[in-house]
Amino acid sequence: MNIFANNPALKSWLEVSAQSDFPIQNIPFGVFTDENDRVHIATRIGDYAISLSVLEELGYFIDIDFDGEVLHDETLNAFISEGKAVWRAVRNRIAEIFEANNPKLRDDAEARAEVIFDLDKVLVELPVYVGDYTDFYSSREHATNVGMMFRDPNNALLPNWLHIPVGYHGRSSTIVPSGVPVHRPVGQSLPKGETLPVFGESKRVDFELETAFITTDANEMGQRVPVEKAEDAIFGMVLLNDWSARDIQAWEYVPLGPFLAKNFASSISCWVVALDALEPFRCASPVQEEPKPLPYLQQTGDHAFDINLEVIIETESGVSQTVCKSNFKYMYWTMSQQLAHHTVNGCLVSSGDLMGSGTISGSEKDSFGSMLELTWAGQNPIAMPDGTERTFIQDNDTVVMKGYCEKDGVRIGFGEVSSKLLPAIPFVK
Ligand code: CA
Repeated sequence: MNIFANNPALKSWLEVSAQSDFPIQNIPFGVFTDENDRVHIATRIGDYAISLSVLEELGYFIDIDFDGEVLHDETLNAFISEGKAVWRAVRNRIAEIFEANNPKLRDDAEARAEVIFDLDKVLVELPVYVGDYTDFYSSREHATNVGMMFRDPNNALLPNWLHIPVGYHGRSSTIVPSGVPVHRPVGQSLPKGETLPVFGESKRVDFELETAFITTDANEMGQRVPVEKAEDAIFGMVLLNDWSARDIQAWEYVPLGPFLAKNFASSISCWVVALDALEPFRCASPVQEEPKPLPYLQQTGDHAFDINLEVIIETESGVSQTVCKSNFKYMYWTMSQQLAHHTVNGCLVSSGDLMGSGTISGSEKDSFGSMLELTWAGQNPIAMPDGTERTFIQDNDTVVMKGYCEKDGVRIGFGEVSSKLLPAIPFVK
């Protein structure tokens, strides 16, 4: 597969620092509002936000066979509905426009002023209207760690786990973009050794290091997406912090799974990295031999992606500590298996749906993707540079997640998802 935009030799006439997550080979998709309150469908190169809405008006996409009006919406959903051939053609065209030797826009000062915005002068928005949000549970290490702590150390992995990409339906109403702060939730929990619950602020607010993929209109109700075609229905990926309240979760999750412990907030990074941009970083996922998945989940070839992930806690006083380094390739179930399983019963998956990976933990202790695992339910606090300790997230801490791939001198990244935990809103009965 030859994707023009992925050529490692490409250079842009826009300035891009060597450590940027957004070289000309990335070309993610997003949405921003400018200083005049106009909403733009966009991409990003270096620290510039680039209006695809204006490029469309100027005729830059005129020979690509799609409805240009989709680049004038306030979300990416309609553009995503156009399908993979259009995403690829538009992304390649953007690479051509900004390639160092192409003078057309480079030497047109008037057009440049309309198309290119300084990132710090615009507001980057939630990129899609999320109609449905599903969260999987696909890291074997995470499921094992949680099973050991919440249930039984000797039977940590439940009998279904190696056969089914386990997941649950979340709430799309509380998905927020990076930068939006989150309040500590209140709720019910059962103190250790007690038989009756108490009500109050959660004392165990946690992050979950995840990625998520965003789908196109994958099927019609009743139809299924075969595992070998599933990647064609995946538009791209973002970082996801699936905020969790562990004390509320432990009391409420039986028998139907997470509820209020999870739906107070889920934060995502704002630039959707196209699956095409991740193609050079494709790699093998964990072997699935014992047991082999059922035939509808079996696949050949490489379907994981080598994405380095990191979680940083920043305190109110400004010190920061990296608490986790993990990698997306550790996931036992691939995105295509998740989507094939999700639709095998005919469940409808639409443009803009968000599918969380589940917490991404590796096998090493510093690669665990939640404070629950990193501190082993609070038993092993993490030391911060200012002398304080963390078992879970404190009020006014900011949790920052970063992710990037690197190969052949090209770095493709996600930027970050950053959100501050604010104190609970006082509860008046
Ligand atoms: Ca989760």
